[in-house]
Amino acid sequence: MNVIKEILKKLIPEKWHDQLVLVFKYYGFQYTCPCCGGRFRRMRSAGSPLRVNAQCPKCQCFERHRLLILYLKNKTGFFKDNLKVLDIAPMEFFQKICKGAPNLDYTSADISSPLAMMHFDLTDIPLPDNRFDCIICYHVLEHVPDDMKAMRELYRVLKPGGWALLQVPIDVNRRETFEDPGVTSPEERKRLFGQDDHVRLYGLDFQDRLREAGFTVRIEDYQKELTSAEIKKYCLLEKEDIYICAKEQL
Ligand SMILES: [Zn+2]
Repeated sequence: MNVIKEILKKLIPEKWHDQLVLVFKYYGFQYTCPCCGGRFRRMRSAGSPLRVNAQCPKCQCFERHRLLILYLKNKTGFFKDNLKVLDIAPMEFFQKICKGAPNLDYTSADISSPLAMMHFDLTDIPLPDNRFDCIICYHVLEHVPDDMKAMRELYRVLKPGGWALLQVPIDVNRRETFEDPGVTSPEERKRLFGQDDHVRLYGLDFQDRLREAGFTVRIEDYQKELTSAEIKKYCLLEKEDIYICAKEQL
């Protein structure tokens, strides 16, 4: 089998290799990615501990992104209303969707990613107050040492009446967030916070931090509205709450 693989590799131009891996290793009809529309017989395993069917082999999205797209499509006016959107630490597939959506005035930002349209530190956003109708910030705050300052900055640039989806990994067995600025080595961070570049492990008090920054917070268990067949088809996690953060009208 390996010999055949090697021969095929030599015969087929390199630019088609990724496409061929997709076709032979992943394509099928069991699972559907709502982010790219791809259909697969399996997805990539990822994470620690390893999660099967976690990452889409075509657009690279994870379970949380698939739930995000379904939520935005089915529960919000994101793809219908005229919205000024700020996307922090953009995923390529999501940026492509947003740039192609005629109703969105889209800006992406990151501290360093070449993919992002703007580069800045989340704790010091170089933009005026009350600028965006919607902010998407997925799995970013757990990397930011002064997350309260970052939350206050996100609140500041959100328009009154606007909403933000601010998502972080949460240990649901933990009431209080655990952080220790003295933990700086990647090995210790991985052991204590779950990933070598995380600076804390959020607990259920994440919502209190958001409220302290000014947001009105609603926690939605959107997956409850999906059937078990849909959860399986889209390869979603068994449970993932969505934190909808609003800035009250003045
Ligand atoms: Zn996909």
